[in-house]
Amino acid sequence: MEPKLFNTMGRQLQTFVPIEKGKVGMYACGLTVYNFAHIGNLRSYVFEDILRKTLEYCGYDVRHVMNVTDVGHLTGDTDEGEDKMVKSSRETGRTVWEIAEFYTKAFFRDFQLIGCSLPTVICKATDHIQDMIDLIRRIETKGFTYSAGGNLYFDISRFPGYGKLALLDLQDLRAGARVEVDQGKKSPFDFALWFTKSKFEHQAMLWDSPWGTGYPGWHIECSAMSMKYLGEHFDVHCGGIDDVPVHHTNEIAQSEAATGRTWVNYWLHGEFLLMGREKMAKSAGNFLTLSSLTEKGYHPLDFRFFCLGAHYRTQLVFTFEGLDAARTGRQGLRERMRQLKAEAPGGAQEAEGKALDYLKDFETHLADDMNMPRCLADLWTLLRDTGVAPAQKLGLALRFDRVLGLDLGSAKEEEVTLDEEAKALLEERRQARKAGNYKRSDEIRDILRARGIEIQDGPQGQKVRFAAGQRGERAVTSEGDRC
Ligand code: AMP
Ligand code: ZN
Repeated sequence: MEPKLFNTMGRQLQTFVPIEKGKVGMYACGLTVYNFAHIGNLRSYVFEDILRKTLEYCGYDVRHVMNVTDVGHLTGDTDEGEDKMVKSSRETGRTVWEIAEFYTKAFFRDFQLIGCSLPTVICKATDHIQDMIDLIRRIETKGFTYSAGGNLYFDISRFPGYGKLALLDLQDLRAGARVEVDQGKKSPFDFALWFTKSKFEHQAMLWDSPWGTGYPGWHIECSAMSMKYLGEHFDVHCGGIDDVPVHHTNEIAQSEAATGRTWVNYWLHGEFLLMGREKMAKSAGNFLTLSSLTEKGYHPLDFRFFCLGAHYRTQLVFTFEGLDAARTGRQGLRERMRQLKAEAPGGAQEAEGKALDYLKDFETHLADDMNMPRCLADLWTLLRDTGVAPAQKLGLALRFDRVLGLDLGSAKEEEVTLDEEAKALLEERRQARKAGNYKRSDEIRDILRARGIEIQDGPQGQKVRFAAGQRGERAVTSEGDRC
């Protein structure tokens, strides 16, 4: 299978051809670890995981590198504002190092919970300061830098292709550009490679460099670390769509200025997760974290399933109704898998005959720029088709799940965790039954069923389980809801 991927560079679908046969070098911009990842960030990582799993499905050995930004990312992407880590440190009273460690751990916990495979290499910016200094030296030697106001800047006027990824019209942008905070820059689009005069006296992360004691600009870390782990020319670079106009644009300029050659072959970007009409963002205050969803009783993979319901290049509006539908859909899939296992005691079989048509459809849609909604639809149609033997359905579903990452092969029971409201309803129902008010008891049963929670009354009281998993599933009871 040869996937076609939409390359932001040139804005077209292209058949993927690796630099080295059978191998893929893939770099994904990681999180700035000053706070928990929000589910908008996580949507981007689900997209990148699907990309990696698609390439692996195609037989490639993928070397997936991801950075952890623990220094240098200012509150604005274009050198304005305060270092995000320093701000978080001031607000919480913890050191920047403590903050970085805490949120890095939290991030990779969420990352795995939503079914993402850990990157082959995870690299922290603060562990690679010397690599960044070495790269800046190369850029400087080639004449692309200047010093102003104590900082070292990249001079975009020396790099003719500046803005080619984002299709920036610099003349147009200049006309509308607002006045930069840092008056030392020759162009508002020049960007800092190294801050020697910290704008903030309380900047805790400082290193010696040929330009004085200071810290790196945000973009240089990705150029330095990707080249260290993947070489000076590699296959895929990805991130969220907001990385295109500044971060990736600047990464390309400085990397290609240093090496004098094309840096990356395929650029892929995932669209935003929205809240209403707005991009979900920390700064907008309209964000949710994964744990805020699991506290309400959702499984982390419900969020992954929710993401797969939209193509990665379309915006996706987050709603709890949408997440409820994803939960019901995922539980339905799990239930079908359980039935298939019972119907095919000999286990999964290779596809043949009619099943091969489903395999072909799935691969066609996967190869079409990873069309996950169509791939999921293919899976559902297969599972409903009575003309395909259960063992073959099982085999195909597990094969598709190598990309979908929904843990369909797992026989593990999933605990139902109840939010405060559901717990209160359960308690009210217990009281209603005690008082013989069966009308209210039934009403509450219906309310909870609509939320995907089924109640079973037994000698030990009320037991809860996921509504879609009724048939053949053992009841699971979570703490606090037994009465
Ligand atoms: P940051 O920590 O700001 O560097 O963001 C980490 C990743 O999350 C980047 O690739 C961003 O493009 C991505 N991202 C941020 N907000 C959203 C959003 N609302 N929807 C999708 N991706 C996002
Ligand atoms: Zn980056």
